[in-house]
Parts: sequence; structure tokens; C-alpha cells
Amino acid sequence: MYNNRNMISYDLGIIGAGPAGYTAAIRASQKGLKVVLFEKEAVGGVCLNKGCIPTKTIMHSCDLYNSIKKAEKFGIKISDFSYDYEKILERKNTITQKLQKSLTRLIQSYDVSIINANAKITEPDIIEANGITYKCKNIILATGSKPHDIPGLKTDGKFILNSDDILNLKEIPQNILIVGSGAIGTEWARIFSSLNKNVTVVEIAERLLPAADLDVSKRLERLLKKSKIKFYTQTKIDNIKDTTLTLSDNQTITPDIILCAAGRETVFPEGIEFEKDGKFIKVNQNFQTIYPNIFAIGDLNGKMQLAHSAVHQAISVIDYITENKAICFNINNIPSVIYGNPEIAWVGKTEEMLYGYDYKASTFPVSALGKAFADDEIDGFIKVLSVDDRIAGAHIICPEASSLIHQFSLMIDNKIKTDNILKTVFAHPTYSEAVFEAILGLGKMSLSLPKEN
Ligand SMILES: Cc1cc2nc3c(=O)[nH]c(=O)nc-3n(C[C@H](O)[C@H](O)[C@H](O)COP(=O)(O)OP(=O)(O)OC[C@H]3O[C@@H](n4cnc5c(N)ncnc54)[C@H](O)[C@@H]3O)c2cc1C
Repeated sequence: MYNNRNMISYDLGIIGAGPAGYTAAIRASQKGLKVVLFEKEAVGGVCLNKGCIPTKTIMHSCDLYNSIKKAEKFGIKISDFSYDYEKILERKNTITQKLQKSLTRLIQSYDVSIINANAKITEPDIIEANGITYKCKNIILATGSKPHDIPGLKTDGKFILNSDDILNLKEIPQNILIVGSGAIGTEWARIFSSLNKNVTVVEIAERLLPAADLDVSKRLERLLKKSKIKFYTQTKIDNIKDTTLTLSDNQTITPDIILCAAGRETVFPEGIEFEKDGKFIKVNQNFQTIYPNIFAIGDLNGKMQLAHSAVHQAISVIDYITENKAICFNINNIPSVIYGNPEIAWVGKTEEMLYGYDYKASTFPVSALGKAFADDEIDGFIKVLSVDDRIAGAHIICPEASSLIHQFSLMIDNKIKTDNILKTVFAHPTYSEAVFEAILGLGKMSLSLPKEN
């Protein structure tokens, strides 16, 4: 496949080995393409190295610590326990490194060439890296995103930190201010609070977790209050003088550190210019940029900045390139999950999105489940929304929400009628019974709730 001494030809060149890039590489190889994958840092991208996996690894230690705090209630005696944050970080690093190695082996098993270099596109079918030129019939940009500074809050890695910096902080100080209550802000608030720190969250929107259904946001507020996490909505930081912050309601606070957890900016490769859509790269419904042979997927196109969204886009784009299969990407059916105790997850429409439509809503509290009592996890619910006897959205706040939500994804994607869903038998005692009960509730037929007057 050598055209000349300095140029190597490939069917597909992919820039970025995060979830979007490495999934595309594996799928393309499975479909018979000769693939080269460029990565300037570490395979796995933000997800494996700075996002999903490190945060959930730390979160798992916190969940365990929280369980031990409650051990006596469960008849377990543990007289002396504490946590060692350095060890928690060490475990996070070990897991990340292990996964990096196994991911590299996985990608290589598909005969994908991995080039550890900063790649740039010099012409629509030419990628350059380390002084070598690669001719690629098609190119996929999967260069992802990075934290960005909020105006007036320039990160310095010491007092004002971003989501990358916080992962490497060896010691967590006592008083932490978090700016932003999206997934990243809420998860870190829950982590720090589990570690007995004083946490304050400042959110500019009128409610916490603004993308969630209103009932979920309200329940989260209640849960944060219970954990003694302070929060201020419709509030921003007006001024910082040394370590004293003045909030927009004139209150002052003096945290030891600030974590900026609001928004990310996209990473563009050097080289030829692309059309932008705001801060994201502009793509059509097939994820094509202005150059029909150059596609952009994952965080870079801003459709939905989640790892599983990136993976789904990668699969779709390879099927389009290899089989001309129409791309079917429905943002509405991508689940969102917030980790911590209890988990939060949703898919499909929120109730606010359905205002003005003929819809039904049903909320089933997990406090009506035997399983929730057995686990001492009664603070949560499953809320379902339906239109024309089909599920339009589901909003969960309870243990196992991160897994339960996929039952609803399947129902929504396959447009299954609620009558047919209710033919399925849900095992007892499980949280899945709340799925069944919530759907029964759409017809006012929940079996574990008292009769309505
Ligand atoms: C703290 C945090 C927690 C998160 N938790 C979750 C979660 O629980 N679940 C979830 O679904 N999502 C989560 N996310 C989001 C998730 O990490 C991203 O949506 C996902 O990583 C996007 O994948 P990607 O492949 O598009 O880009 P990235 O993962 O950003 O990967 C892009 C890669 O491209 C490389 N690159 C960039 N430019 C070049 C170049 N010129 N040459 C070579 N290589 C280049 C980068 O080094 C990087 O490795 C989290 C994010 C953060 C920050």
C-alpha cells in the first residue's frame, strides 16, 4: 500500500483515540477497512483518563465508605475506619493504566495502526504526524473536548481548578466551592461530601441539574440538603479578591479551593479550516463536515457530550462509510446518568418538554418496594411519561438507576406499547418492579400504592 517512499495509504484515518475514535477504528477494521489511528496523549481519551472511569473509580471508594458509615444499622460492627485519599487516587491510577493497556491490545488485535503523535490535516485526504504523511480516503475527526475557563474564573491548578486538575489533587481541603451543577459538578459534590468535606455548589440556572426533569432536580435538592451540601441557584460569582468570593446575591464565601465544573470547549486539529456551529464543528446529519470525506464525531460536534453518544456515532458513521447506511442518531434517546447515592438517570422527554401535548405521567416511589427497605434506600422514584400509549421519557432517582434506565431506552427505541410491556414479568424483590409499577401507574393501576380518591 505504499504510493511512494514517504506516503502511506489507508482507507480511513482517525484523529483521536477516545471512545469515538477507538470505536470507529475497531468497527472499521471489522468491516474490512485499513485503518490508522492517531493519538497525541493516551488511548481512551477523556473518558478513560480524565472523565468517566477515574471519577467512577473514586466514587466507588466513596460509596463503600458511605456504606461502612451505615454499617451498624445493618448489624455490622466496624469499630475503627477512615479513608486514605492517596490510596483512593493510587487505585484510580492503577485502574486507568490497566485499562489503557488492555484497550491498546484490543485495538491492535484488529490490526489498526496506532500512531502516538499530534496529527494535523494538511489537505482533505492527507494527515501529517511526526513528519510522515498519510493518505486517507476518508478521515474521522474525534478530537474531543477539554475543560474551559468560566469568564472571571481563570484556573490556576491551585485555588481555581478544573475537572482535570482535581483528579490529581493529593489532598482534598475542607471547604470546597463547585461552580456548576451538571453531571460533573453534582458527582464531585457527592464525592467531596462523602469524604466529610464542606461543599457549596453555585449554579447560574434556576435549579440544580438543569437538564433533568424538574421533579428530579427538586429531589436532588432535597438529597443535597440532607447531605449538608449547600447550594445557591440563579447565582454566579461576581468578584474574587484573594480567596474571598462575592456571589451575585452579595454573600461572601471563602473556600479553600474552587472546582469549575461548567462547560467544555472543543479541540480542533491543526491544519485545514472547518466550518463551525458556535463552538462546535459543523456537521450534517451524516456527521460530514464541509468536506464530504471528513467526518466529525463525539464531543467535537457537540451533539451530546457523553461517551456512549460518541460510541454510537462512531458505529453509525462507519456503517455509513462502508454500507451507505442512513445514520439514525436521536439525541432524545440517549440516556444520561449521574453517579453517587442514589444514582440518577433519564432518557427521552422531560415533563416540561411535553407541556402542550396529550401525555400521561406516573411516579412510583421506591419507598413502596420491599427491596428498597431491605437496602435502606427508600428515598427515590421512577417517573414515566407516555404519549399515545408509548413511553416518551423516564426519570429515575434510586439505586441501580444507571442500569434500570436501559429498560426504558429499549422501550422508547422500539416504540413498544405499554400494554405489551406489561406482559413482561419483573422479578421480586428488585428495583425493576418500580419500572413495572410506574408503567401500571400510567393507567392508574399501580398495585403497591393506595387507592386514589
Ligand atoms: C469529569 C468527567 C466525567 C465524565 N463522566 C462521564 C460519564 O460518566 N459518562 C459519560 O458518558 N461521559 C462522561 N464524560 C464525558 C466523556 O468523557 C466524553 O463525552 C467522551 O470522552 C468523548 O469522547 P470523544 O472520543 O469524543 O473525545 P475524547 O474522549 O475527548 O478523546 C479525544 C482524543 O483525541 C486526542 N486528540 C485531540 N487532538 C488530537 C490531535 N490533533 N492528534 C492526535 N490526537 C488528538 C485527545 O488526546 C483525546 O485522547 C465525562 C467527562 C468528564 C470531563
